[in-house]
Amino acid sequence: MLVDDSLLTAKVLSDFLVENGYLTETVTTGEDAVEKACTNPAFDLILMDIELEGEMNGIEAARLILKCIDIPIIFLSSNSSKNIFNTLKRVPAYGFVLKGIDKYALLSTIEMALSLFALSTKTKMIYGEYRKAYEELETSRKQFLELTENAPVGIVKCDQNGTIVFINQKALEILGSPSVEETKRINLLTYPPLVQHGFSKLLEKCIQGNEQGVSELNYVSKWGKQVCIRLHIKPIIERNQSRAAQVIIDDVSEKKHLEEELRKLSLTDPLTNIYNRRYFIQKLEEEMARVQRQSSTSFCIAMLDVDHFKSINDRFGHYSGDLVLKKLTSIIKRRIRKMDCLARWGGEEFILLFPDTSASEAQLLMEELRKSISKMKSPIDEEITASFGLVEYFAGDTVDSMIQRADNRMYEAKKAGRNCVRF
Ligand code: GH3
Ligand code: MG
Ligand code: MG
Repeated sequence: MLVDDSLLTAKVLSDFLVENGYLTETVTTGEDAVEKACTNPAFDLILMDIELEGEMNGIEAARLILKCIDIPIIFLSSNSSKNIFNTLKRVPAYGFVLKGIDKYALLSTIEMALSLFALSTKTKMIYGEYRKAYEELETSRKQFLELTENAPVGIVKCDQNGTIVFINQKALEILGSPSVEETKRINLLTYPPLVQHGFSKLLEKCIQGNEQGVSELNYVSKWGKQVCIRLHIKPIIERNQSRAAQVIIDDVSEKKHLEEELRKLSLTDPLTNIYNRRYFIQKLEEEMARVQRQSSTSFCIAMLDVDHFKSINDRFGHYSGDLVLKKLTSIIKRRIRKMDCLARWGGEEFILLFPDTSASEAQLLMEELRKSISKMKSPIDEEITASFGLVEYFAGDTVDSMIQRADNRMYEAKKAGRNCVRF
């Protein structure tokens, strides 16, 4: 686009440009130039005369055009002055040429402006793409951090040498670690507690052999926190090869604690806090298996039943009866060894297991227990006695046969007048 109010000058210039392979269109006012340039995007370059007839001069027109489109503009003027030089600074143009001095200088300026403009357009495009890619990367980085930082499990990534390269907040919290830097000092393939536990071996298999694995660890962390954690190990494949691993840490301490509590509850008698029948049978089976392997040792069991307990309940009330049962079990527990087992068989009947104990040793102990019970300071200020049936294991016994024999002996003790041991 040629903007010049002198049609003659415009014609001369236009002819010269056409001769050199350009298409031109001439407008004579700044207003027309703005209107045309902004509505017709086909122009590649504007040659803009600075002094124009009408309200708008060339500089003002160029400023408005550049607000609406990106196009190279070269200013033309029939004279130059310090004033023009200063005003030109307000517009980012591609050149300033004195009219009628040298047409080839103008042609050269046009060509340079076109290639500079092409270059700047390309740069802007590349920058735009780069900017977009950067923004996408930044968004996904933020999403990743948000997800990992809010995760209810610990997340760790280590490289093929066992060095931690990423660890989230939850993992630090689980391990009681003060910082990411501190935790990164631990090498997952060489840290002794992890090696001893076998975790490091599993991790190595995962990184080198692409194997997934789950490992449970109960230990005191480097920062003194007692933890029970489940670790899910997964290889991270990069360029078709497993080069790293991801470890998800699940804190199962609370769950384990609850499980243990439940297990204890399921094996304990709530009134006396000693073991129940289920646990006793388990222990008895274990002991039988043990003596069957080591036939040189033996063991005994004893059944005991409180004498005339119904009468205690009837005269002192059920609550006092309960206190008697509690007191009696505490007396027995105090006397027996840690390896022995006392359980409530039901009601006012109790059962005892004495591992690795001969009948004569057990008989002495039963006598002692019988005496301690009858001498104990009872909650009802009355003598409490019990009858005992004692049996020793012999080859071929089963859980039922042994218990049945102990029960029979205990009834014999009742028949013999109570407060005695029968073997
Ligand atoms: P024996 O000398 O023949 O064993 O007479 P006994 O009265 O002890 O025997 P019996 O089987 O007639 O009565 C047992 C009583 O124990 C009946 C029952 O109500 C009571 N009993 C069972 N379990 C509990 C308990 O948990 N608390 C209390 N207080 N009493 C219980
Ligand atoms: Mg009974
Ligand atoms: Mg009884």
